[in-house]
Amino acid sequence: MDHDLLRGTCPACQVTIGEMHADDCDVAECLMRGLKRMYCRALADTAGHDCGASTWTGGWPGHREAREFGWHVRWDAEARTWARCAPEVPGSGPDLNRLYEHARWNAEARRWVRRWAVVFLRAVRGGRAGSRPRR
Ligand SMILES: [Zn+2]
Ligand SMILES: [Zn+2]
Repeated sequence: MDHDLLRGTCPACQVTIGEMHADDCDVAECLMRGLKRMYCRALADTAGHDCGASTWTGGWPGHREAREFGWHVRWDAEARTWARCAPEVPGSGPDLNRLYEHARWNAEARRWVRRWAVVFLRAVRGGRAGSRPRR
C-alpha cells in the first residue's frame, strides 16, 4: 500500500507544512469552497465569502480525498482519453474533476466528503461505509 508522501513545501509558493500560502499562490484552496483560491479571484463577484488563509498541509488539496474515494484517472494512450481507474494503478492521478463535481466541500472539516455519505451512513448505521468491493 503506498501512502501519499508528504511534501515538505508547497510546490507553488514554497511555504512549509502548517504555514500560510502566499497571497498569490495557485495551489492554495479556498476554505469556503474547496476550489482553488484563484478560481474565486477570477470570478467577478466573490462578495459574501472570505476565502480564508489556507495552509500547506503536505499534499495537494483534494488529492488525498480522491485517493480515499478511489477516484483516479489514467491516460489511455490508445483511446486518447482519460480513463477512470483505481488509485493503485501506476501512473494514475487524482480525478479532481470528479471530485469537484461529485463531492461536497465540508468547510468545517476542511476536506471533501462524498455527497451521499451522510445518507448512506445513516442507512448502514456504523456499517462498512466507504469500503469498496475488492477489484
Ligand atoms: Zn502555496
Ligand atoms: Zn473563495
